[in-house]
Amino acid sequence: NRQIVVQTLPDGTLTEDNFALEETPMPTAGDGEVLLKTILMSIDAANRSWMQGATYRDAVKAGDVMATYSICEVVESNTPRVAVGDIVAAEAVWADYVVRPAHKVEKLPKVDQLSHLISVYGIAGKTAFHGLVSVGKPMAGETIVVSAAAGSVGGYVGQIGKALGCRVVGIAGGPEKCKWVVDALGFDACVDYREAGLFKALRAECPDGIDVYFDNVGGTVLETVLALMNEKGRIACCGAISQYDTKAPTGPRNLPGLVVVKRLRMEGFIVMDFADDDAKAIRALQTWVRSGQIKVTEDVVEGLENAPKALIGLLAGDNKGKRMVRVAAD
Ligand code: NDP
Repeated sequence: NRQIVVQTLPDGTLTEDNFALEETPMPTAGDGEVLLKTILMSIDAANRSWMQGATYRDAVKAGDVMATYSICEVVESNTPRVAVGDIVAAEAVWADYVVRPAHKVEKLPKVDQLSHLISVYGIAGKTAFHGLVSVGKPMAGETIVVSAAAGSVGGYVGQIGKALGCRVVGIAGGPEKCKWVVDALGFDACVDYREAGLFKALRAECPDGIDVYFDNVGGTVLETVLALMNEKGRIACCGAISQYDTKAPTGPRNLPGLVVVKRLRMEGFIVMDFADDDAKAIRALQTWVRSGQIKVTEDVVEGLENAPKALIGLLAGDNKGKRMVRVAAD
């Protein structure tokens, strides 16, 4: 059984030297436990933020096997709740096999493609839906801006926004990604934050100002967007990826001034807060996927041993759509 340990915590930018691949004896399931074979592991910006300290979950410390959300097959079961061969979701670790208490795993429905349970019907799609609909509360005709627009959450935010009848403008890194966001995902426009002049470029694409900002990045991009928000605008604070992989985080300088003057509402959320509405989110997402209004975008990296590279690459902007690692065939 292979597992990947966080050998040392990063001092600034995460590197492959922070990780070590270890061979360990095959674990066995005790009373009320199940032995799981990992099929797919979600690779998230959050993996890096957990290394910064405790948040909505425990910190990942030096010596820990990296935590992850996985889709697994049950290979040994000491409980009537799940059977060998069942497909489950679990808070797991970067490893081929993992033992979990049976009550901590979620039996998954049969689907055509397992990877969709990590992308559009998984954390990415649910975060986009709940954050936009319940926190951002857009109305048809309003303008939505979303950062990390070519990423997993951002891509769904924009497509949901279009399905709800809004003007949607993305922010992403580089001309190629920006073109893909418009051509493949159907955004009205996408501006490159790595180019100078983000304020002017965004103002040109948002002639009626910005009503809803779905913030995945924080930092200077948030500072720029704040200046273009309309009165009574809403900012759904989903994440702050620009602050996770650096020694020198930079917050916006115009807070809380512009929030006061423009009567803005800034609200943070964690996808689990809306678990009671998950079934509603999945139904809506299924409808849009079937009608072609939502394109499922996935970025699958092969092999457990490549998980560190996959995370480092995600933080550097290598991915388009939901990044995950395939550990075993399903
Ligand atoms: P993504 O698939 O969106 O990938 C991250 C993207 O962020 C990269 O592709 C990169 O694209 C962009 N990025 C990296 N560094 C910067 C930077 N300094 N400034 C601007 N953009 C940057 O990853 P995730 O879906 O895992 O995460 C997206 C966000 O959603 C994160 O902030 C994460 O913490 C948050 N999240 C929050 C949840 C919640 O419950 N609140 C649940 C899930 C995710 P580019 O090339 O465009 O720079």
